[in-house]
Amino acid sequence: MVPKIDVRRLAAKKQYEGELEFSFDAEEELLDLPYVHFASPVEVRLGYEICADESVRVRGQLAFTLEGLCSRCLSTARSGLVREIEAVFQAEPKEEEYPYSRGVVDLSEFLRDSVMFALPSRLLCPSCEEEE
Ligand SMILES: [Zn+2]
Repeated sequence: MVPKIDVRRLAAKKQYEGELEFSFDAEEELLDLPYVHFASPVEVRLGYEICADESVRVRGQLAFTLEGLCSRCLSTARSGLVREIEAVFQAEPKEEEYPYSRGVVDLSEFLRDSVMFALPSRLLCPSCEEEE
């Protein structure tokens, strides 16, 4: 499950920083590779910071495993991916920022985008990877 950041509630408690750890199942439709699927949930670790202007900065890491057929030789392949991710949420977002409304940050769209950017253009088995 993807948690939400309740900015108003946290700000009222003067809790301007924190850590989130959770996992969620990525949508298979994000994967554009034939015969490849997510072999694990997406594991996420995020630190958040609520700034004085009420923008919310998040930064952390996501990790997941892909499994399927090697894009080159069709033998079984498996790959663990880890990516650094970050974003800024604003009530009135500028370019490349994410919007949030009613004082609650919904991380879903940002995470969906992050998984999409983390996806490789192909999956290689160990022996094909060696030949690269
Ligand atoms: Zn291969």
